[in-house]
Amino acid sequence: MDLFSQTIKRSELKEGDHIYTWRKQLYSHHGIFIGENKIIHFVNTKREGDQGSRFGLESRSNQKKPKTPCPTSYCGLEKVAGSGVKLCCVDCFIKGGSLYLFKYQASRKFLLSKTVGGTCTMAESDPVKEVIHRTSYLYENGYGKYDLMNNNCEDFALYCKTGLWSVDKAYQGRSSQANMVRPTSRAQKDQKIAEYVQQIATAIPRSFSKREVNDLGFRKDVVKVPVEELCTFVLSLMQC
Ligand SMILES: [Zn+2]
Repeated sequence: MDLFSQTIKRSELKEGDHIYTWRKQLYSHHGIFIGENKIIHFVNTKREGDQGSRFGLESRSNQKKPKTPCPTSYCGLEKVAGSGVKLCCVDCFIKGGSLYLFKYQASRKFLLSKTVGGTCTMAESDPVKEVIHRTSYLYENGYGKYDLMNNNCEDFALYCKTGLWSVDKAYQGRSSQANMVRPTSRAQKDQKIAEYVQQIATAIPRSFSKREVNDLGFRKDVVKVPVEELCTFVLSLMQC
């Protein structure tokens, strides 16, 4: 594995790895490798034909191309219909792109050296057994509603790896990629998604200090939530 680029070969993948791939050089898509060429990832099911696009750009462009069916028996399987938590093979996950390993316990220097979000965190990963348990549980039971800014594919993988969830209901998203473009004022939340997409497309970090403060390993508003209690926890949070 190249430590700088974070690229990883298939042969180097280990169960419980948080991996990602780039879509059109604009944004990263994330998932958890569970062994035997299988990945569990969280997708926006409202985007028809999407196998991982976060912002719908890829799914729109793919609609014009004939799609080659995946030869595996499991690719695209979803235990809870419409949940968006799906099984996927490595080929369909990367779509001809490269595979990267998301870095945990990244140093401050490493974090700030990254010009785009969605590649690393200062937070620590839990042991493989816990990661696989969370990931499998969410595949079996669902993971809630997809939300571009607050509950996306990176949020899913981060939760599987760390079990961390925010107690601040106004600031749920833990995705570093979304944090790069999150409005400073929460009153701006009604800004159109298209504007966010445009901001991500330009991929210019607002400020490096902001990235550090928003990092999952730095935030003080996150707590460990057992996956079996996640649904109840989130519901109680929303009722506060
Ligand atoms: Zn496939």
